[in-house]
Amino acid sequence: MNAMHGEVRQQLLHRRKTLLALRDLHRLAAEAVEDSGAPEWVDRAVALEEKQMIARLDALERWALHEVDQALERLRPDDTVQCEACGATVEPERLHALPEARRCLCCAARTR
Ligand SMILES: [Zn+2]
Repeated sequence: MNAMHGEVRQQLLHRRKTLLALRDLHRLAAEAVEDSGAPEWVDRAVALEEKQMIARLDALERWALHEVDQALERLRPDDTVQCEACGATVEPERLHALPEARRCLCCAARTR
């Protein structure tokens, strides 16, 4: 049995948890900016900038979360992934380094 069995899934689940925690944190930060009710235009400009930054972070996190969810769906029960291009099993080393990998090394190199 593969020594890394289950590790890719663990890695993905851990990443998922971290992303969800980060998202909650940023949503709280966004609410705090909302609630500060800064009266001065300078404060409002700063608040707007913060809000935009938080919105960008939120979009990034949503994208990353989507990637992790898709990777979890691709992951077979034996903790391997089928290359979406050639159907071969993605190398465990590659998956270990990049759990979101969709393609084997050969196919990834070809399409780069
Ligand atoms: Zn391939």
